[in-house]
Amino acid sequence: MDLLYEAATVHRLHHDPNTVQVSTLLSIKTGGCPEDCGYCPQAARYHTNIEGNDLMGVPQVKAQALRAKAAGSSRVCMGAAWRNVKDGPEFEQVLEMVRTINKLDMEVCCTLGMLTENQAKRLAEAGLYAYNHNLDTSEDYYKDVISTRAFEDRLETIDNVRKSNVTVCSGGIIGMGEALEDRAGMLVALASLNPQPESVPINALVAVEGTPMADMEPIPIWQMIRMVATTRIVMPQTQVRLSAGRTEMSREGQAMCFFAGANSIFAGDKLLTTPNPDVNEDMDMFKLLGLTPQKPFTKISQPKTVEASESAYQPLGEKPRWTRPGHTITRNEAAKKKGNLAN
Ligand code: SF4
Repeated sequence: MDLLYEAATVHRLHHDPNTVQVSTLLSIKTGGCPEDCGYCPQAARYHTNIEGNDLMGVPQVKAQALRAKAAGSSRVCMGAAWRNVKDGPEFEQVLEMVRTINKLDMEVCCTLGMLTENQAKRLAEAGLYAYNHNLDTSEDYYKDVISTRAFEDRLETIDNVRKSNVTVCSGGIIGMGEALEDRAGMLVALASLNPQPESVPINALVAVEGTPMADMEPIPIWQMIRMVATTRIVMPQTQVRLSAGRTEMSREGQAMCFFAGANSIFAGDKLLTTPNPDVNEDMDMFKLLGLTPQKPFTKISQPKTVEASESAYQPLGEKPRWTRPGHTITRNEAAKKKGNLAN
């Protein structure tokens, strides 16, 4: 109750608590990915029932964006199952998609894998509003989830995006078998980015048959609420996105997440390849809770700049692991506090 109260208080200080930003996630290139993210049905090496697709055409993307806009979305996020962006005709096609959606007066986001500084600048010139690149989990647990690239690679792409004027969307997934310390470690890493990300998606794992995480138990809703609340407190100005896993959540559970500081959702019946609540169901829920979809390009508070004295994140191997101004938690202390970290 104290955590919820504090999170709701912080939320009300920085945001209109009755406005929720609605994004539509569109898979513009599905499946066949060379990476080995343990949670992902799009990795070519896992035997899942995903139907792979080549890069979508610009007219098809435009039609889907118009449909999303009519249904209340202010942002289209285009996802491609690539390890990294390669310069060439496909990247040119993505740039054209960005320009096209931009002209529809919608925010455009992309999630295309690793990105160079120059590619980030080209996307910015095309009118990209946000780039998504999740940290996924803590640095410690990362290697248990993905082996084909390192945590530092993620930070480098985020850094490249920061060198352009594109906003940063970066979050992670809970329910992958990580410890509470890993959830805290991921939040510390995100909250220590300078400035903090404008948007932080919090996903609950959707366990898909054929992936190494197929047998993971769904996480209880209370863990999601606790994670959302903690994210809100440590990143007061960011947009906290309630992302994958909403089909498993009751309306009451989602309402608690909004109360605890979530102020964005993904709409549409599919999140890349996994199921998501129908848009009409979401609009009914908004009506019930008195929530309004946010208009595109609404000025939100600037992301928090982290002071040097607050610099909380230290790379693996250096101690202490977690610090707060005036307070230091070492790994041993954290282990003793296990089960109570989110407080
Ligand atoms: S999460 Fe992205 S990078 Fe990882 S396997 Fe899936 S599509 Fe590839």
